[in-house]
Amino acid sequence: MTPGIRPLIAGNWKMNGTAREAAGLADAVRQGAGAVTGAVDLLVCPPFVHIHAASAAIAFQPIAVGAQDCSPEEKGAHTGDVSAPMLADAGCAYVILGHSERRADHGETDALVKAKAEAAIAAGLVPIVCVGESLAQREAGEAESVVAGQIAGSLPDGFTAAKGVVAYEPVWAIGTGKTPTEADIAAMHARMRQELVARFGEAGQGTRLLYGGSVKPSNAKAILALPHVDGALVGGASLVAADFLAIAAGAAG
Ligand code: PEP
Repeated sequence: MTPGIRPLIAGNWKMNGTAREAAGLADAVRQGAGAVTGAVDLLVCPPFVHIHAASAAIAFQPIAVGAQDCSPEEKGAHTGDVSAPMLADAGCAYVILGHSERRADHGETDALVKAKAEAAIAAGLVPIVCVGESLAQREAGEAESVVAGQIAGSLPDGFTAAKGVVAYEPVWAIGTGKTPTEADIAAMHARMRQELVARFGEAGQGTRLLYGGSVKPSNAKAILALPHVDGALVGGASLVAADFLAIAAGAAG
């Protein structure tokens, strides 16, 4: 945790479930959220087509809804894409950008992620920009320089003013059950803070830095207690409401 920063626990539902299942999951999160939302911000990020179903199930509870991607363009002839203004219109407050699965599956570059983050900010959304090294890069001792490069290339100038969030997600820890050591997470988050402060000054001190990669109820509390870990981006465990809420309870103290 960083003193003065309210933790954010975000669920990335990826490409899972029917509309009915999304509504059921959102409803289950809503029912248990009261125990944690006094101290923690909760966010769920369903697939685009389930955003309305999830939002309706959450109703007016203090749980934010976000998307998993957006177009860098505002509107027009971009078949299959969804714009940031459309997400804002659908009730989204956040959008995950540059997830390693999009960088790998869709060839997304730092420059494209930056353009998407600019579009998100212009639409009033909070971008959650994902960064993280591959296993080969970590083994070559390049993890910190890779992440510093992604931060430099993927964050637009207005990032801190828009309360943008950075998520450190080592690619090799996503969906694998493997996590870096607590010392490695702490070292990376300290480096990320240093990069943000060097670029954005004092505003970089207040940027939320999430850790993501095989976070579960059993390891959440220890990870969330590390310096400069201001929340978690949760994949697999966010599909089970009780697990997601247990992780959030780890951030609530
Ligand atoms: C993710 O993909 O953002 C993620 C953190 O996944 P998991 O928690 O399943 O490792």
